[in-house]
Amino acid sequence: MKIGVPKEIKNHEYRVGLTPASVREFVAHGHSVMVQAGAGSAIGLDDAQYKAAGATLVDTAPEVFAAADMIVKVKEPQPQECAMLRPGQLLYTYLHLAPDPEQTAALVKSGAVCVAYETITGANGGLPLLAPMSEVAGRMSIQAGAAHLEKSKGGMGVLLGGVPGVAPGHVVILGAGVVGTHALQCAVGAGARVTVLDKNVDRLRQLDLVFGNRITTLYSNAHSVEESVLAADLVVGGVLIPGAAAPKLVTRDMISRMRKGAVVVDVAIDQGGCFETSHATTHAEPTYVVDGVVHYCVANMPGAVARTSTFALNNATIGPGLALADLGWQAAMRGNPHLKAGLNVAHGKVTFEAVAKGLGYDY
Ligand code: NAD
Repeated sequence: MKIGVPKEIKNHEYRVGLTPASVREFVAHGHSVMVQAGAGSAIGLDDAQYKAAGATLVDTAPEVFAAADMIVKVKEPQPQECAMLRPGQLLYTYLHLAPDPEQTAALVKSGAVCVAYETITGANGGLPLLAPMSEVAGRMSIQAGAAHLEKSKGGMGVLLGGVPGVAPGHVVILGAGVVGTHALQCAVGAGARVTVLDKNVDRLRQLDLVFGNRITTLYSNAHSVEESVLAADLVVGGVLIPGAAAPKLVTRDMISRMRKGAVVVDVAIDQGGCFETSHATTHAEPTYVVDGVVHYCVANMPGAVARTSTFALNNATIGPGLALADLGWQAAMRGNPHLKAGLNVAHGKVTFEAVAKGLGYDY
């Protein structure tokens, strides 16, 4: 198969679909790989490394899209990329279609076969191709939140860990999944007081076993969310209902009653966000303020630590990617429900139930 890797074009996105090491794997499996020149240069993966790994370098994205049977990317295709896809061409990348009717319509129109990293399931449960980015974003959420609690960034001027004789900051984490767990690790590490909420009591049990009385675990409902959020200095939103838009757990009214200068980091913004007041921001302008509360809603947080993120992502994408290329998508998905769960759009149809129902397509 001909594999194509275009340079990412989303604002401040420096990750790349394949590392030179992954290119080497595809080549070893008998595939040819075409990489757009400069695709990895911003994170120290230069063209010479790709060449040494066996890739052919081309100058432009249209050349990559025109020649490849399978496009490997990181972020959802932008409108100009959707327009370059052709019927039957395989697209392997993050899509996050549920809150994005325009992209969904463009992919349906393209006739391409679109496999979303974020809905491929794991043999042991979970979402193994989302997990590495959630690990990164979860850890970053505390770093970003702590920075924006500083006065110069609009926050109330709280040091998360406090100092001897001064109480630490209070971090509230909505969702105890991968984002929530990694946020929790960092918040506990920073010395903050931490409360974590989830509807899945088993997840709370596991965290309680590990962190004991260094954290407070709460079953998530409207009452516990409201009470926690109103007492927080920093709230991290990391809830997910797979393939569906995020539930709006924090209402506009709750935001208006939060402490002035508190910070909310809505990691779930790529699924529409779990704060009613959230809208997606970029690394160029990561925050805005609503009712005195600083909102950080960057939809591609791992892009800021693009080198770490690229390696972590490739570790997870290489296996299913090779299966798709080696066998073709239909054969690869036959008998593999986990890979099949990644199929979101194929030949002009939405093939993922939650997206189809949410956006009004036949399923
Ligand atoms: P996950 O499935 O591991 O965890 C989600 C958790 O949310 C689960 O434990 C689930 O029980 C919980 N949950 C669902 N409904 C809830 C509710 N009403 N109250 C409390 N908890 C609830 O998912 P994850 O990997 O942690 O990802 C979380 C979100 O972060 C996803 O939307 C993902 O796409 C997003 N994400 C964003 C970025 C970014 O850059 N902004 C990066 C990575 C991941």
